[in-house]
Amino acid sequence: MTGANQLWEVRDVPTPTAEPGQVLVKVYASGMCYTDVWATQGYGGDIYPQTPGHEVVGEVVEVGAGVHTRQVGDRVGTTWVQSACGRCAYCRENRPLTGQTAMNCAGARTTGFSAQGGHAEYIAISAEGTVLLPDGLAYEDAAPMMCAGYTTWSGLRDAAPQPHEKIAVVGIGGLGHVALQLSKASGFETIAITHSPDKHDLAVQLGADHVVANGKELNELGGADVLLVTTNAFGAAEEALTGLRVDGRVVLSGLDFTRPFSISSEGVPFHMMRQQVIGSTHGGQHYLSEVLDLAAKGKVKPITETFPLARATDAFDRLTSGKMRFRGVLTPQNS
Ligand SMILES: [Zn+2]
Ligand SMILES: [Zn+2]
Repeated sequence: MTGANQLWEVRDVPTPTAEPGQVLVKVYASGMCYTDVWATQGYGGDIYPQTPGHEVVGEVVEVGAGVHTRQVGDRVGTTWVQSACGRCAYCRENRPLTGQTAMNCAGARTTGFSAQGGHAEYIAISAEGTVLLPDGLAYEDAAPMMCAGYTTWSGLRDAAPQPHEKIAVVGIGGLGHVALQLSKASGFETIAITHSPDKHDLAVQLGADHVVANGKELNELGGADVLLVTTNAFGAAEEALTGLRVDGRVVLSGLDFTRPFSISSEGVPFHMMRQQVIGSTHGGQHYLSEVLDLAAKGKVKPITETFPLARATDAFDRLTSGKMRFRGVLTPQNS
C-alpha cells in the first residue's frame, strides 16, 4: 500500500531478518481480507507505505535470539495481532492476545498495520504471535482460517448457542461461506441469508439447511436464535433483525465504516424481545486452534482463488469491486 486510496504496487524490498523474539517465515499463502480494502482507504491510519495482509502462513526459516518455542522448518501462521507491549494499562490486566489487544494496547504489533503484513515472500513475526499448523492442512486452506475462520468461529463462540438453537449466517462471502460450514460442523440447524439467488445451491452444499433472502423470510421460517453478521454492510444485518427470535443475539463480526448499526423502532421492540447485540473479534489463540483443527479434519474448507504476488494489484481490484466471491489467497512462492 503506497498511500490512502492509492493502487497497490509490487515492489522489491530488503528481506526482513528475525529480530530477538521473532521468527522469519517464508510465506506460502496469504489470504486477502476485506480489511485490506479498509486499510488501503485509510481507515487503519496513516500507515503507508505498508505491506498488507493478516492471514499469513508459511515455514520458519530463521529463529531470532531468545526464541525457544519455534524451530526452523515449523509450519506456522499468524493473525492480525502478533504481540502486545506488556506494560501499558491494558496489558496490566493480563488478558489473552485477542483482537481487543490491537484496539487497546499502547504498543501492539499488528500484521499489515504497525508491522509488515503477509502479502510478501518473507515476513518477520513475533514468535508468540505464531501458531503451529496441524499436519496435513494445506497452506492455501490454512491461510483463510487466520482471519475468516478465526473471526467467524469467535463470533459463534461469543454467541454461546445452546444445542437446540438455530444459527443464521448473514452474507455468504469470504467470511459467511466459512461460517456456514462451522455452524453445520457444530451440529446447529443453519440458515443462510443471501440476496444472491446464484449462491443458494452453494449455500446448501456448504451446510445450510435453509436459504432465505432476508429477515422477513427468516421470520416466516420461525426465526433464528443467533444472527452471525459476516458482511461489511450493516444494512443487511439491520433488516435481518426481523427474523431474530426472543432472547436472540446478533453478532457483529465485520466492519462497516460507512454507517452506524441501528435498530429499527418499528415492530416488536428489541428490549421487549430481550435480545442482545454482541461485538465480536478474534477471541484468543485457543479459538484459532479449534478452527484449525476443524480445517485439518476437513469440516471447513475455504473456497479460494489464488494469485501470484505479481498479480496482487489485479487481486486487489477483484476484492475492491466485489468480484472476489469468496477468498483470494496470494501464493508468493508461485510465479
Ligand atoms: Zn481480516
Ligand atoms: Zn500494552
